[in-house]
Amino acid sequence: MAASPELRVIHTVCSHDCPDSCAVLVTVNEEGRAVKVEGDPGQPVTRGFLCGKVAKYLDRVYAPDRVLYPMRRKPGVAKAPLQRGREHEAFGRVSWDEALDAIAARLQETSDRYGPESILPYSYAGTIGVLGFGSMDRRFFHRLGGSQLDRTICSEAGGQAWNLVYGRKFGTPTEDFRLAKLILAWGANIHGNNIHLWPFVEEARRNGARLIVIDPYRTRTAAVADWHIAIRPGTDGSLALGLMHVILNEGLEDRAYIAEMTHGFEALAERAREYTPERVAAWTGMTPGEIEQLAREYATTRPAALRLNYGVQRAENGGAAVRAIAMLPALTGAWKTRGGGGQLSTSGAFAWDKKALEQPDLALASPLGRLARVVNMSELGRALTELGQGREQGSDAGGPAVHALFVYNSNPGAVAPNHNAVRRGLERTDLFTVVHEQFFTDTTDYADFVLPATTFLEHTDVQGAYGHYFVQLSQQAIEPRGEARSNVWLFGKLAQRMGFTEACFRDTPEEMIRQALAIGADGHSANAGMEHITMEELEREGHVPLAFHRAPEARPFLPYTSGPVPTPSGKIEFFSETLAAAGRDPLPGFVPPVESRWSEGAKKFPLELLARKNDNYMNSTFANLPGHRKMEARTNQRLEMHPADAKGRGVGEGDQVRVFNDRGAIELTAMLNAHLPAGVVAARLDWAKLHPDGANVNALTSERLTDIGGGATFYSTLVQVAKNRV
Ligand code: SF4
Repeated sequence: MAASPELRVIHTVCSHDCPDSCAVLVTVNEEGRAVKVEGDPGQPVTRGFLCGKVAKYLDRVYAPDRVLYPMRRKPGVAKAPLQRGREHEAFGRVSWDEALDAIAARLQETSDRYGPESILPYSYAGTIGVLGFGSMDRRFFHRLGGSQLDRTICSEAGGQAWNLVYGRKFGTPTEDFRLAKLILAWGANIHGNNIHLWPFVEEARRNGARLIVIDPYRTRTAAVADWHIAIRPGTDGSLALGLMHVILNEGLEDRAYIAEMTHGFEALAERAREYTPERVAAWTGMTPGEIEQLAREYATTRPAALRLNYGVQRAENGGAAVRAIAMLPALTGAWKTRGGGGQLSTSGAFAWDKKALEQPDLALASPLGRLARVVNMSELGRALTELGQGREQGSDAGGPAVHALFVYNSNPGAVAPNHNAVRRGLERTDLFTVVHEQFFTDTTDYADFVLPATTFLEHTDVQGAYGHYFVQLSQQAIEPRGEARSNVWLFGKLAQRMGFTEACFRDTPEEMIRQALAIGADGHSANAGMEHITMEELEREGHVPLAFHRAPEARPFLPYTSGPVPTPSGKIEFFSETLAAAGRDPLPGFVPPVESRWSEGAKKFPLELLARKNDNYMNSTFANLPGHRKMEARTNQRLEMHPADAKGRGVGEGDQVRVFNDRGAIELTAMLNAHLPAGVVAARLDWAKLHPDGANVNALTSERLTDIGGGATFYSTLVQVAKNRV
């Protein structure tokens, strides 16, 4: 794309972990410097604007404190939090050749001595580009025999729960929310972290739609809703069942749709009978009348669109809750009307050729000769401090201890639950840690090697989305700053240093994009739903809709309105055959979290903590940039408390308080917030090293896992709060 003789405009895609996957145009001057980033007005969902996080992206790309060269920890420097701004003093610059040789030698030595499973990759969605998220790295670790990582930390509980009901993650097209007459945002802060849905919500509201938000916290979205329902954390599942109870009691279900498309209705109806409005009111903090009103409004308004996001599933019972909520549009037949239905994620629509990208068969050539053990990333603290202890005592259970950790696309020193256990693990002097990063973070403080990583402006990738139905090409806009290198480059080179001779380790990003798309001899993709896509079209257009979404006005996409559904029964499953086969409750039910006001632990730690995400950071990404910190200043290092909870502890606005439980403690400044349910406190995730204690809210969260998917339970955390004595 040309702008003027001196300027070039390149089509890229924002690869941060966000449903929107914005099309981003980057203007590059004749010196090869990016001078402007802006949204691509031609992208039908993201429509030419960027969120506040990325609108200032050049501040990030050209930040003076970017990690630009490979660095090795200096001898004798302890693994511990390093002073902000002086981290580089702990490291010495080395060449890429030196770094790759030394890392390859250490990984080989570790593999020979302890077995390859003692090497643990740790990555998540620091980039959600298809290549950057998982491609050459997966090949590398399969061939090496390194432990496999179960990537559960963010969305697995909800994703698996949705799939138990519907088989695959499809949802109402984002553009169609404009047609809704009722939008139910459940655990979904649309305005904060799904901003490109918001104009469609506004359009719907201009046409008379109501916006109802269910969220224990008064988010930006909740603050402007027609009705904000602040239920207690972890009670979503009971509310969904209570809504079913009312819907069925009053005959508001869609019997024809249920008969044609669903499985297990009678059993679900029986279960829902138990969840009377009175019972559900006692759990959620709503009144029975409010539950009845919500059920009637949801079931009788057409079209009714549910935006369910990943907040709900971060409770211990989050899987069951998402299953129950996801069933609501199937009970009322909301899928049948354009603009109705629901969306958790659209990612199931992108059938990338993952086998070609990740090549799991390479594990057969590893020293193990098989796929390696799986380690759950939500239990990193345990993995680094407990895994393999039995082996030292003569038991092989669980395999070897972790002796090498390779971190990329993630900052576990900040984002992993049970921060103090993670930190104890990272401090181990016998643990060899490599971190591929753009900045010094809470994790690089413990690294033996820090390697410079590219931003999405500096490498090529292809991307789908979990909030729309477009395949997009992200072209490299500028040369990498310094010696920053992409994940594909890093793991390809490292594989060659390890002596892996397979040709796939020499694939270029362009070749791998073709592999992801399964481009055949006729130039077209062989992937389901992508058969019309060619590289030429992607290069020309930048974004191409999936097949079923090519003519939305003439042929609107109505998910789950014709069978078969990709579940074991071929129907939408109210009754899960998979859970039944595993000896688990096949129906949704409500069990309060182990850490909640109803549990034994509440006697000692009576407050439920919401360890919140930020509107203006992406988990821990962006937290180091002054402009972004300014946008989050209002709640910086604050503990939000209901006035009644504060009063009972003699705490006033602005007082210093200690928030603690058996896992850790953090000092924060009290901020009264009457919108929180009583008994609930809230604090934002931040970098630990930016706090005077060197801790963040994850000092309080646990490694207990969700009921489905083995996810992290950030929102099921009990704490106590005490005013600091001066
Ligand atoms: S973070 Fe999300 S909304 Fe912001 S530019 Fe990236 S994809 Fe778009």
